[in-house]
Amino acid sequence: MIMSPSTVRTRTSAFDAARLRDDFPILREQVNGKPLVYLDNAATTQKPRAVTDAIARYYAHDNANVHRGLHELASRATDAFEGARERVARFFGVADAAEMVWTRGTTEAINLVAYAWGLDRLRAGDEVLLSVLEHHSNLVPWQMLAQRTGARLRFIDIDEQGRLDLSALDEVLTKRTKLVCIGHVSNALGTVNPVAHIAERAHAVGALVLVDGAQSAPHLPVDLPALGCDLYAFSGHKMCGPTGMGGLWGRRDVLETFAPFHGGGDMIDTVELESSTYAQLPNRLEAGTPHIAGAVGLAAACDYLAGIGRDAILAHERALMTYALERMAEVPDLTVYGPADPAERSGVVSFTLGDVHPHDLATILDGEGIAIRAGHHCAQPLMKRLGVGSTARASFYLYNTAGDVDRLMDGLERARRLFGL
Ligand code: PMP
Repeated sequence: MIMSPSTVRTRTSAFDAARLRDDFPILREQVNGKPLVYLDNAATTQKPRAVTDAIARYYAHDNANVHRGLHELASRATDAFEGARERVARFFGVADAAEMVWTRGTTEAINLVAYAWGLDRLRAGDEVLLSVLEHHSNLVPWQMLAQRTGARLRFIDIDEQGRLDLSALDEVLTKRTKLVCIGHVSNALGTVNPVAHIAERAHAVGALVLVDGAQSAPHLPVDLPALGCDLYAFSGHKMCGPTGMGGLWGRRDVLETFAPFHGGGDMIDTVELESSTYAQLPNRLEAGTPHIAGAVGLAAACDYLAGIGRDAILAHERALMTYALERMAEVPDLTVYGPADPAERSGVVSFTLGDVHPHDLATILDGEGIAIRAGHHCAQPLMKRLGVGSTARASFYLYNTAGDVDRLMDGLERARRLFGL
């Protein structure tokens, strides 16, 4: 039975997506003469007024460089910046804000681990365990590192529903495994991976665990100490925050082993002409003037999401996904990839329609005002594993409604007619 949109609304009455939409001015845009339906949230999310106002307020009232100044604005900017770190740490359940290192986003956070930790630690014969689900950001840095160190990359495969096949975990996890790098949620299929279980097994062989949290931080209630990993990378722009802002959380004892990476101002204690000593965490891993307004905006985004409640956001997305999967199952020629059970995925659904090229599908939907993504989703090895060149992908967030799913389905129907399916 297909749930009606009103059933979806009832199930998600913990919050009112239609009302939340008012917080996002961009959702009132018309696209190609139609009201925008934004279903490209796995690529980036829209920003609520609370975030853009916080950034504008910072620039209008508090802007100065941080840490060094002795004037009033410099101390206001420093308070805003370090206060933001505390709020973001708290959002992730982290008590020690010094464990929260700012980066430009997930990609930079993963590269930071590769260079500041991996370059000195990995040797020929060591192994790094990844999965075939990974985003290029969690593959390419390790390939580059493997080339430089002689370490070997190994991979966890998936089953026919795009879930990690953990049956061989004990074979691929050995004493040689130094690091396990795993995505918490697949950006291409939406699969939610059992990170805690993998972390437990990885720790049993002495490996560190880095989680790519780009797609979990926005959608799941993430409590980092409870998750069981050692390091966690995330991007602000995928969780209602600004672009160019994200972070790497790491257990203090693990971050303490990182070599300084970028050298420059702010990461030092003393500097001589020939040598330097370095600052404490987190500054030793944050050289140069940071993205102060970005931190302020990201903290506002975390406050905004916490105010709505991440359990409620997840319940809403799951209800939307259930409705979408039920409706999609009724469309002839439509192939849906990823877990069949909505409880095993976040709000991402990848699909193909007959032999229509996903780019053509995205273009037709764009003509209807519907924004989806089509392509390899920065997961070319996964596409190869699935035996497809590319897929179309719709991804939901807190402001999407059952009406958006209906518009998507109408758009797919139109595409079927246009292609004579
Ligand atoms: N990992 C995953 C799973 C992602 O979805 C993305 C963004 N698409 C990234 C990493 C990279 O994030 P960013 O581009 O913000 O660094």
